[in-house]
Amino acid sequence: MDLGISGKVALVTGGSAGIGLAAAKSLAREGCDVCVSARDPERLADAVVELQEFGKVVHAVLADVEDPSAARRVVEETRDVLGPVDILVANAGGPPAGRFDQVGLDDWDVAVQRNLLGTVRLIHAVLPEMRSRGWGRIVTITSRSVREAIDGLLLSNATRSAVAGVVRTLAREVGGDGVLVNNVLPGPIETDRLRQLMGDEEALRRRGEEVPVGRVGRPEEIGDVVAFLASERASFVNGVSLLVDGGESRVIA
Ligand code: NAD
Repeated sequence: MDLGISGKVALVTGGSAGIGLAAAKSLAREGCDVCVSARDPERLADAVVELQEFGKVVHAVLADVEDPSAARRVVEETRDVLGPVDILVANAGGPPAGRFDQVGLDDWDVAVQRNLLGTVRLIHAVLPEMRSRGWGRIVTITSRSVREAIDGLLLSNATRSAVAGVVRTLAREVGGDGVLVNNVLPGPIETDRLRQLMGDEEALRRRGEEVPVGRVGRPEEIGDVVAFLASERASFVNGVSLLVDGGESRVIA
């Protein structure tokens, strides 16, 4: 299937590793020029090298989505180098882990900035041009915690649900302008984030046994779903929070 997005400009934040990098690769493979943004200069430089293998124009912007001025700067730089953003993949690291009595108010602030307002500011920065050009795709990366609260990840449960609310509402407001807004809810995916949460390889393997397909997911299995949602082929998919978890959730709908 030709996804119909060759030549589009994609911006992927948190794009130097894990799910973000995988999404950037899937989009580059489909012919998009890609801007990746993240906080760590070395990993970002490595990501650019990996992405250049797809033969498309690649740009990188060092930025922390928690910085209120970052979104506008990243979007403007992408426009200057690659052109207006057609596809936004709003992604970043996860919020601090912990139960209610383990997370302080500073942690709440980090989570709201990184995982809610960071996304909102990016959408603010790309939306007017997408609407005026009559085409756009916004894909947020949140978590399966939108469907089922995860014990010990209070801040994920709280902030990701807020993003899902933004997605559902915004999708109804801008779908008529050709801008589709969707949300991907990864289950356990083998990235630095999951390794850090699980502690060691044995714990990661055991975690995989809890998933009906018998393993945790690979980043590219999220990246390809993101590319589909960002594509011309997904033209009637709008406002969904799509669980990609190997069948782990027992929630029926
Ligand atoms: P990761 O830690 O492997 O990669 C995170 C990426 O985001 C890196 O490029 C990092 O440099 C960048 N980043 C981190 N904080 C940033 C910030 N403040 N500003 C800009 N860039 C920032 O994480 P991942 O596993 O790829 O997860 C991506 C998202 O998906 C996270 O929000 C995570 O919580 C969520 N998620 C992951 C899993 C999983 O199992 N891996 C499951 C559910 C949800």
